Amino acid sequence: MSLSLALAASVSAFAEAPRTALVIHGGAGVIERGSLSAEDERAIRADLGRALDAGQAVLNEGGAALDAAMAAVEVLEDSPWFNAGKGAVFNAEGGHELDASLMEGHTRRAGAVAGVRTVRHPIRLARAVMEHSPHVMLVGEGAEAFADTRPEIERVRPDWFDTERRRKQLQDARERAARQQAGRRQYRWGTVGAVALDAQGHLAAATSTGGMTLKRWGRVGDSPVIGAGTWADAGCALSATGWGEYFIRLAVAHEVCARVRLRGEPLALAAEAVVNGEVPALGGDGGAIALDARGNIAMPFNTPGMYRAWIAPDGSRGVAIYADE
Ligand code: ASP
Repeated sequence: MSLSLALAASVSAFAEAPRTALVIHGGAGVIERGSLSAEDERAIRADLGRALDAGQAVLNEGGAALDAAMAAVEVLEDSPWFNAGKGAVFNAEGGHELDASLMEGHTRRAGAVAGVRTVRHPIRLARAVMEHSPHVMLVGEGAEAFADTRPEIERVRPDWFDTERRRKQLQDARERAARQQAGRRQYRWGTVGAVALDAQGHLAAATSTGGMTLKRWGRVGDSPVIGAGTWADAGCALSATGWGEYFIRLAVAHEVCARVRLRGEPLALAAEAVVNGEVPALGGDGGAIALDARGNIAMPFNTPGMYRAWIAPDGSRGVAIYADE
């Protein structure tokens, strides 16, 4: 091949390179500079980077957005730094109840589980609900019984999710509750999620959480609720983190994407209006990651920090924690 032909071929290959994108979060909350040691911060950034790598590997091989989002979330579920899978917060009884959901945009297929106690990767169980049951959402004992029928779902003892950090948070929360200082902002920390755009132009979203420290009565937040904590349609995908009750009441994930789909609002504007406008106006707080079919990324939050990382369609990549970065 002549030099000019080779050049033309490589230029057109570049022009046609699939424009994939991936955004992940590890939760929004009171994450202030100085609240993390340099060593802990490095470890957290490294795990966010590993989750990005896992999702990107799927996208680079031409894999589906749903598989990429799930791969990223599974890495975060195994990291003790985030409130999902290993490292999940403790409930009022000193146990863990895990929630997760995922959704594929172009098919509107969705799966969700809530209140599971022995599933290492709740996001994988949500996927199984979507693919191997006629249902969208299973909870508690029933979800565990369904997991018993699926050999690909890894089971662990309930104390497998324990970490010392979360136990200390439980003690602190109990002491504050005893002193009747609600302190709800410290009650949650580190839900995880991912949104992905694949080479076919398809979008997906996935979210996984341990919920809120000290939760009781089978409390379920927004994370496994399709339309509240997780949503994907053909043009928009979102995974949320924050005070779940408010995200449910505002159907945050669906609301943002509906503004994009029905009003033609730019993603950033829609996400900002809902997450940083409607949520605080009602008294809630939190954040979200969102992606549209053109690869535009939005990561609004109204807390001091949100663990987040992204790979944009142009290949640029970033990891951030605090509001000022
Ligand atoms: N949204 C989650 C819940 O309410 C918690 C969080 O994102 O930190 O269960």
